[in-house]
Amino acid sequence: MTDIYRLLPSEMDALFTGLGQPRYRADQVLRALYRESPETIADLKQLPAPLREQLTAAGFTIGAATEVRRVVSVDGLTTKLLLRMADGVLIETVLMQYPERAGHPRSTVCVSTQAGCAMGCVFCATGQMGFERNLRAEEIVAQVMHIARLLRGRGEHVTNIVFMGMGEPLANYGETVRSLRILTDPRAFGLGQRHITISTVGIISAIDRLAEEGLQVGLAISLHAPDDELRQRLVPTAGPHSVGDLISAAKRYFKQTGRRVTFEYALISGENDSPETARELALRLEGSGCHVNLIPVNPTAGGYQRPLRTRVLEFERILLEEGINCTVRVEKGSEISAACGQLRTDEKNRDVPEAMTLPVVPVRGRRQAASFPGPSQPQ
Ligand code: SAH
Ligand code: SF4
Repeated sequence: MTDIYRLLPSEMDALFTGLGQPRYRADQVLRALYRESPETIADLKQLPAPLREQLTAAGFTIGAATEVRRVVSVDGLTTKLLLRMADGVLIETVLMQYPERAGHPRSTVCVSTQAGCAMGCVFCATGQMGFERNLRAEEIVAQVMHIARLLRGRGEHVTNIVFMGMGEPLANYGETVRSLRILTDPRAFGLGQRHITISTVGIISAIDRLAEEGLQVGLAISLHAPDDELRQRLVPTAGPHSVGDLISAAKRYFKQTGRRVTFEYALISGENDSPETARELALRLEGSGCHVNLIPVNPTAGGYQRPLRTRVLEFERILLEEGINCTVRVEKGSEISAACGQLRTDEKNRDVPEAMTLPVVPVRGRRQAASFPGPSQPQ
């Protein structure tokens, strides 16, 4: 069985020429897949019936992510989905919207690249559930297509993708890069590379490899600490990847791709949020040209708490004063457990307020849009 969403446009060309078909068949199918969202091979009405039957007989399918649960934040701007893959594995995908003054909202999809994660970051719900399996490229693409269908029903579209859901994208390198190529190819999903950001815990060899792929995607490295001892405590698998080596890798990525790297820093009360730590961080990052994104931690089962707002602002102020470009991440959907891995954990514990829970409807294809109580259209 091959999910047809797995194929790069060049592979689609090869498939149809191999079947003795004209090349435009590949374009017909690509257009249908990425603009019309067919649910089965039989729905590809652009193709003659015998060809559809031939594809089905050859084991091609259109796989899909089945929506199990959907929660929407009170302001309607964050939607979190629990999706079931064909083998029953559950993963999370989040849609975050930011109203624009004119036109459509900015609509960012946060995709998962693994079910669970082996990295074990102590404050992360996904890290605490352990590693289940890598997602395949088509399963990453399916998450985006699921949200794209949902948005299309409202006359909106996906404007950005961040690889910041469950799992470590660079520990699933091949499938992550394949999905990037599909999502950015103008003959496939066609999103601009600059509208995509990969977030990594910091696997240095993979960062260097990514820099050589000829992709213009943004990179965020989850640093969380200015020194190795503290980082090792928060990211137990950090092992050989020292803070200094990560900063050097970020500089190389910038040099090779022209894209400035962002360092993500989950601020945890009493762990890595002191003014001294901020000064140490500023010193480490001096001259790196990197941006720091401070993320007040979303409390999870680990018992870690976010610092008081004043302390967060103090940390930011110190970095800015020391000349480090820095922002505090706008909090999105914390009441619906929008931090990575939290919904799936909640699904087990069932502690999401029922008021936030929508009935589970057989959502596939365009039908789901009708049931979506999304944000009101921006003026
Ligand atoms: N594995 C990758 C990408 C997925 S995690 C990585 O670690 O970068 C995406 C981001 O969410 C990371 O910066 C991670 O540190 C952060 N994160 C995880 N759990 C969090 C929590 N409970 N609160 C705030 N940020 C969290
Ligand atoms: Fe994995 Fe990222 Fe969570 Fe760490 S923060 S456990 S690397 S998903």
